[in-house]
Amino acid sequence: MERGDHKGKKKHIPVLAEKLKRFGLRATPQRLAILEFLEGNTSHPSAEEIFRELKPHLPSLSMATVYGTLEVLRKEGEVQELTIDPERKRFDPNPKPHNHFLCRKCGRVYDLPVDLSALTLPADIEGFWVEIFTVDFYGLCPACKK
Ligand SMILES: [Zn+2]
Ligand SMILES: [Zn+2]
Repeated sequence: MERGDHKGKKKHIPVLAEKLKRFGLRATPQRLAILEFLEGNTSHPSAEEIFRELKPHLPSLSMATVYGTLEVLRKEGEVQELTIDPERKRFDPNPKPHNHFLCRKCGRVYDLPVDLSALTLPADIEGFWVEIFTVDFYGLCPACKK
């Protein structure tokens, strides 16, 4: 697969602008670029990575805008905030529950196609009522294992 392959599926700017308005945000070029960058992105970027990637094209972009936009998107359920990487928060535009794998060598975070639906826990553990739980996976990715 070619890098940036997901670009073909990108929504038109008016759709993204409409989305920002719905979230109470003005559709500035900076915010639109953040939304466009996240669309279909499976690299689980951190706020710093998003900033570094977009800054050359948008000199007026600030870290505060990246943080602020991500915070609104998180609250609206548009992105998930991942805690798998102890060094930085990562963001995932796929809101569906799925599992992640952090490679200890290259530091990349991958979606791990593993079905944990067979894993059941009692909802009530000594009085603790479990509503959700997350499982993170760590190890070596196929490229680093070679
Ligand atoms: Zn790796
Ligand atoms: Zn993911």
